[in-house]
Amino acid sequence: MSATILDVGHITCRFGGLLANDDISLSVQEGEIVGLIGPNGAGKSTLFNIVAGAVSPTSGSVSFLGRDVTALRPSGRCRLGLSRTFQVMRSFNSMNTLENVIVGALACGEGARQARRNAYEVLDFVGLTRRAEVPASELTPAEKRRLEVARALATRPKLLLLDEVMSGLTPSEARAGMDLIVRIREAGISILLVEHVMEIVAPLVDRAIVLNLGRILTQGAPADVLKDERVVSAYLGE
Ligand code: ADP
Ligand code: MG
Repeated sequence: MSATILDVGHITCRFGGLLANDDISLSVQEGEIVGLIGPNGAGKSTLFNIVAGAVSPTSGSVSFLGRDVTALRPSGRCRLGLSRTFQVMRSFNSMNTLENVIVGALACGEGARQARRNAYEVLDFVGLTRRAEVPASELTPAEKRRLEVARALATRPKLLLLDEVMSGLTPSEARAGMDLIVRIREAGISILLVEHVMEIVAPLVDRAIVLNLGRILTQGAPADVLKDERVVSAYLGE
């Protein structure tokens, strides 16, 4: 029996009259890769932001490693080991690759020396050591994705939240991205990843959770979920 690392309980999130998340409960076990999928507007990003702490739910709870973190800010969650990818923002483009990763680790409360050490280590892990001194603006789109992941990894997470890190990649870049995600899991980090395109994540995830219209439509092994008629028609309807 593995332990529960993330427990989302009865999350509801309203934006005015719109119910973006409607009573969503799910969990991630230690060592698991879970895919959160669904058509556009299903509520994936909202739930992702609620788990990360960037959005406060209208009701419901988020527990991480048995601790209720619902009221905790993103930085506090990060210190506990719950880390997310952030798209590399324009303001960071003037910094080089290494500096971007160091800033990620510093923002999560690492000391300067440790942040630098972590940064070199994760750049090696994601295959960006050669690009350490290059301004982030000069990285290819695929390298920028790696940098996003490296920044999150530099905070030494126990659970990594990945937001559409495969979208827009070529097939070979996507394969390399999947290899990286597998190696992250092998390093003992659990993963919750959001993707729009089901086929991308199917070979990768242990379990797929399908959101539609703010609710969980179904969940299970990716092969079963892919051929579920309700899932097929939810995607057709978008
Ligand atoms: P997904 O990521 O699955 O495409 P989202 O969580 O982004 O879905 O959006 C779910 C619904 O909530 C959509 O109808 C979207 O327009 C709405 N929504 C998301 N964020 C906000 C917000 N900050 N204010 C108002 N409506 C929002
Ligand atoms: Mg989204």
